[in-house]
Amino acid sequence: MSEPLDDELVLDGNAAAGALSEIYGDEMTTVLAECASCGQVDPIGGLLAYVHAPGIVLRCTACATVMIRIVHTPRGTLVDVKGKRIPPPPPRT
Ligand SMILES: [Zn+2]
Repeated sequence: MSEPLDDELVLDGNAAAGALSEIYGDEMTTVLAECASCGQVDPIGGLLAYVHAPGIVLRCTACATVMIRIVHTPRGTLVDVKGKRIPPPPPRT
């Protein structure tokens, strides 16, 4: 193997657009997210997306800190928001 596999698994935040709009009921990729670790601000659509992890993980472009995790489970979808400025997911009904 000569190609680093990890690079092929990294997409941008737009890869999570469908999952995010399902959860929030709105387009989220243009919402600004501030990294809780280094303060970098990027639109959610510009974050690094790791979609082959269990669920979807969005990371800071500067320091790779996890800012959003989305995990689908048999009981529903869990959203873990760690970055700043990102609104918490609405309560499920
Ligand atoms: Zn950061």
